[in-house]
Amino acid sequence: MASRAGIIVTGTEVLTGRVTDRNGPWLAERLRELGVDVAHIAVVGDRTEDIAGALRFFRDEGLDLVVTSGGLGPTADDLTADVVGHFQERPLVFDEALCRRITAIVAPLLARWPNVDPQAMASATRKQAMVPDGAIVLEPVGTAPGLVVPPPTGTAPTVVVLPGPPRELQPMWEVATGTQAFRAALGATVEYRQTMLRLFGIPESEIAETLRVAEGGSGALEGLEITTCLRRGEVEVVTRYQPAYQAAYERFEATVRERHADTLFSDDGRSVDEQVADALLAAGQTIATAESCTGGLLSGRLTERAGSSAYALGGLVVYSDAAKVSLAGVDPALIARVGAVSPEVADALADGAREALDADVGVGITGIAGPGGGTQVKPVGTVCFSVSTRERVRVTRTMLLPGSRFDVRDRSTTVALHMVRRVLLGGGHPEGL
Ligand code: ATP
Ligand code: MG
Repeated sequence: MASRAGIIVTGTEVLTGRVTDRNGPWLAERLRELGVDVAHIAVVGDRTEDIAGALRFFRDEGLDLVVTSGGLGPTADDLTADVVGHFQERPLVFDEALCRRITAIVAPLLARWPNVDPQAMASATRKQAMVPDGAIVLEPVGTAPGLVVPPPTGTAPTVVVLPGPPRELQPMWEVATGTQAFRAALGATVEYRQTMLRLFGIPESEIAETLRVAEGGSGALEGLEITTCLRRGEVEVVTRYQPAYQAAYERFEATVRERHADTLFSDDGRSVDEQVADALLAAGQTIATAESCTGGLLSGRLTERAGSSAYALGGLVVYSDAAKVSLAGVDPALIARVGAVSPEVADALADGAREALDADVGVGITGIAGPGGGTQVKPVGTVCFSVSTRERVRVTRTMLLPGSRFDVRDRSTTVALHMVRRVLLGGGHPEGL
């Protein structure tokens, strides 16, 4: 059986949502790569009782390993080392050599901040050099050391204590996994494989039906842990399994391929963004955009990777009618005749962007992201898309997208990328695209 782990993310700033947790998901992914099952992620405030409560819960669940993030700094609300030490029945002891090493790290900081009280600094350093008796010290990446704290003999879990800032936590994690105490906590690890299939243009319920068909009432999916989730308008099907179930996975994937040939667009985890970028690079083609309701968000997605200027020339943000006319060259008479939110204006925007930047592919987006501003004929969520190429290929779509302003704008960029993908790579046009 695979080892099981829990993650405790500490920090009132994370609990209240002021800071978005980046450590829990990152650690979960690293543990998965090691073949460890992550059972829970707990987010707790900087309170002794809450951190201790999470540790007790994880111990009662029988977990082999707990990883904590945060609360290792020099201030009074940094409690983790103390709480974990008590929990593992290892009182804090002063580590003289560690104290000297931390002093050496903070010395240049002292020089940079002449007003810092050296006395206060010394006592903060002393605090950070207090470590649970018998714990393994992980050298500081910032100023705080991390810890691997073994449990009392014959019990579990081992607790890995890491600092909160992700740039400190990530390198220290690598060091922690190399320690003998860490490996001892996990025992023999089990290999897991994970695959991701991505589909666009179908509701999640269709996949649920496919799962029922694949299962066939005969346990054909046994050994496969399949999760589906809807993200940015795309359905992601993630399957995790041990190598012994490879054949079962392949049968399942074949069923998905057969039933969803026209909507399955990625079987190697690559996003539509990556596929569009790769397709443009491979063809030596360039793209330009003119965006109204999405205000440059599509251009943002097209320019996400380093070196994207090789294919993404840039875009026009043409929110007002005046901008559509003067920047993208849309005929004002056309806007007056059919309205700014129309397939005709989307076409004119795609052509205008392409011509303005002498690009091979142009994309135009115009719509009503709301809230408010819709009409009976063109309600909020109506968005018109156009993709045109130098070779006079043109695809135009009008869609009614659900959700908030954020959702409509975000989903619009996904729809546009899928239209570009189909123009570049071919393939049919399923319902809704
Ligand atoms: P420090 O010495 O900086 O106090 P620390 O180990 O005590 O380090 P925290 O005080 O918990 O860590 O967090 C310090 C900062 O690191 C937070 O203000 C936040 O910006 C960032 N941080 C902490 N935890 C997380 C997290 N889970 N996700 C993203 N950022 C985080
Ligand atoms: Mg802190």
